[in-house]
Amino acid sequence: MKKIAMIGTGYVGLVSGTCFADAGNEVTCCDIDQDKIAKLLQGSMPIYEPGLTELVTKNLKKGTLQFTSEIPQAISHAEIIYIAVGTPMTVTGEADLTYIKQVAKTIGEHLNEYKVIVTKSTVPVGTGKLIASIIKEQTDTPFDLVSNPEFLREGVAIKDCLNMERAVIGATSENAWQLIADLHRPFTSKIVKTSVETAELIKYAANAFLATKISFINDIANICERVDADVTKVSEGIGLDSRIGQSFLQAGVGFGGSCFPKDTAALRHISQNVGYNFKLIEAVMETNEQQRVHMVNKLVSALGTLEGKTISVLGLAFKPNTDDVRSSPALDIIPQLVTMGAEVRAYDPIAVSEVKKRLGYQCTYSENLYKTIENADACLVLTDWQQVRQIDLTKVKQIMKQPILVDGRNLFELETMEQLGFTYLSVGRPIVK
Ligand code: NAD
Repeated sequence: MKKIAMIGTGYVGLVSGTCFADAGNEVTCCDIDQDKIAKLLQGSMPIYEPGLTELVTKNLKKGTLQFTSEIPQAISHAEIIYIAVGTPMTVTGEADLTYIKQVAKTIGEHLNEYKVIVTKSTVPVGTGKLIASIIKEQTDTPFDLVSNPEFLREGVAIKDCLNMERAVIGATSENAWQLIADLHRPFTSKIVKTSVETAELIKYAANAFLATKISFINDIANICERVDADVTKVSEGIGLDSRIGQSFLQAGVGFGGSCFPKDTAALRHISQNVGYNFKLIEAVMETNEQQRVHMVNKLVSALGTLEGKTISVLGLAFKPNTDDVRSSPALDIIPQLVTMGAEVRAYDPIAVSEVKKRLGYQCTYSENLYKTIENADACLVLTDWQQVRQIDLTKVKQIMKQPILVDGRNLFELETMEQLGFTYLSVGRPIVK
């Protein structure tokens, strides 16, 4: 049983802190956001993540999990201090280390005895050294530094944390490495031992590689559209080769979310800073941006003009089972549609309030799928929520003004859409008219 302070109680800190608590550790999740902590203390979750409420409630009752905004006390009490604050993208694409630096200073100010300080946030190579230097400016108290990047996926975050495919741990001492490796034994037997710098780079390399797979298959989809081929079959045909694998080969609207866009941009910056021209990552990002424009172009090709047309956008979160809309394709695409004169109605089962905060009243919102679709000139599918996947297409056809569906997630069979009489434009597959 270890005493852990988790600084930053967002998607990562809250989920992984709760999972550490569930394994019997004494975890204090802290955050500067007092409203967030107050809500958590009342049993209300600040994020939507399947299974989270139950696991938090269970561990609060057991007494293994605590929430506080008294960060200094949590630091003094802990043996292990995890840093899980945000590292958002700056306007120039770099990782913004403001929160990391703030936390490092706070840790330095309150370090009362030897502790192990672990970075879970995704940070550029060299940040471990930066954190150490900021702490040393404040104190002579000894500490070790560990990089232990997080790989959880929103929507299945608890499952990912409780059953990790691997843990990557880079440490400045063998003692610290062992401590963090032991902490992970209940969750995985596969532990990759590295230096701090290598661990930092592994996180970016992992996300960049997955983003590359997505942009690669989207480029192949764009070729498919020009040669009458079907990208879903191409994915199947190549993905069954175990060297390639089937995951992340679904053509669509491109990647979004709080990690891939910012982490690809940050990796480009990291490589620029060391004088390396990482052309591949540049192309991955460009293809991804283009793919969003491509969806708008599909609507234009189906409708002629968007001026005065009602478009129903189905799905606003960047993927199903989350309310996270950071860098979601919908946030880019909806303003484009509005600028082109369309009246946009947007549906999402969970993420409406988050999108409203960002887009305001550019469009109307609903958590009722069929209401969103009624009398629409076209539907645009952006997130493969189960509710959209299982939609009653016969009813959709009846209630739309005209049955035009642009599908950024390739949810429906071409034959079905043809039989039902839809004009159906998906990604990398023949058009149904
Ligand atoms: P988040 O924005 O949901 O949460 C960050 C939290 O840190 C916020 O609650 C914020 O109030 C808090 N915070 C900021 N400054 C603080 C301070 N000085 N003291 C205490 N708390 C402070 O972010 P997230 O999605 O949890 O991501 C955290 C890190 O993990 C990022 O580096 C991200 O790239 C990485 N990551 C995220 C995911 C994911 O799916 N969200 C997956 C893997 C890695």
